Amino acid sequence: MSDQASCARAGSILTIDLDAVRANYRLLRERGQAGTAQAACAAVLKADAYGLGMGQVAQALVREGCRSFFVAHLDEGIRLRRLVPEDCTIHVMHGAMPGAARDCLAHDLVPVLNDPGQLAEWRALARDLGRALPAALQVDTGMSRMGMAPPDLDRLRQDPDWLKGIDLRLVMSHLACADEPAHPLNEHQRQRFEEVRALFPGVPASLANSSGVFLGGAWHFDLLRPGCALYGINPQPGHANPLAQAVSLAARVVQLRTVAAGDIVGYGARYVAPGERRIATIAIGYADGWLRALTGRSQAFVDGMAVPFAGTVSMDSITLDVTGIAESRIAPGQAVDLLCPQQTVDDVAAQAGTIGYEVLTRLGPRFHRRYVGG
Ligand SMILES: *Cc1c(COP(=O)(O)O)cnc(C)c1O
Repeated sequence: MSDQASCARAGSILTIDLDAVRANYRLLRERGQAGTAQAACAAVLKADAYGLGMGQVAQALVREGCRSFFVAHLDEGIRLRRLVPEDCTIHVMHGAMPGAARDCLAHDLVPVLNDPGQLAEWRALARDLGRALPAALQVDTGMSRMGMAPPDLDRLRQDPDWLKGIDLRLVMSHLACADEPAHPLNEHQRQRFEEVRALFPGVPASLANSSGVFLGGAWHFDLLRPGCALYGINPQPGHANPLAQAVSLAARVVQLRTVAAGDIVGYGARYVAPGERRIATIAIGYADGWLRALTGRSQAFVDGMAVPFAGTVSMDSITLDVTGIAESRIAPGQAVDLLCPQQTVDDVAAQAGTIGYEVLTRLGPRFHRRYVGG
């Protein structure tokens, strides 16, 4: 009831299709199984599962058989720990901030050790407790963002006890250009990772994000680490997207008006009506993540028909030119579509000059959220 009431009041409605997320997970997992490496498939749930909702997405993936998860922040891991069964492994990609190692352990989270300092803290905790503690090790293979730098790794390895107290569960690295299959860095990083992995016999290895999965079996190793592809973003720009769209978004009409030739619409008077126009104002704006950069470059859909943005995207509203829509077919309260089969997350990202990840992770807290399937 309250959910229905909230939906009836809402200015915009985000629908998250958990069956689509599950289908995307199955497709990625099958990709991993098809390779010679027989890689398992984890799921990256950082940033509230890229804006889709970590709890709902995690539970849908658990039902699909996923048992390995990655988040970025320790607090994301603490939240996720309460949402998934005990036998699930949760990796914290940033590791623990200085002094926070005990929190990581207390919540049964596996830190990704990214530098000698994080390694030293985890070892010290293991020594204090008198037992080995599980961890993943990240090694930088050419992105220079996170993970042990090669000289640090070489130096550390001179001490035969450098991993004392560490129950090493995973060695991982991250690709910088996986969405550009022809980029030479992909092969360079793969070779570098092969060398690194050989230093840790018997320890599972993980290199591929979503796009990495599609580079081919040689990039799969033991564990795939997809994020964006689970949520429907195309991991191979320029190719047909094999993944299902997992979100749709509709915003409702607040007001309709007719403007005359020469009237201005919106901030900065950037739209001047070239003739009589029908303008619909919808209840979504840049505060909801519908980026201001979409001004003059995007559109909505009314019953599948495109209606262009007219005027600057405001904080809470957007004005549309709905002149092409019969008056009987549009009224206040009606929902118009922004993410729909005719316009994907990647389409909107291209209009705004950004990537699908940014569009998804900006999806705002003011939407009424509906979960279907799962
Ligand atoms: C975000 C992230 C992923 C997932 O990347 P996608 O491109 O969304 O599949 C995997 N590994 C690391 C280290 C990440 O930061």
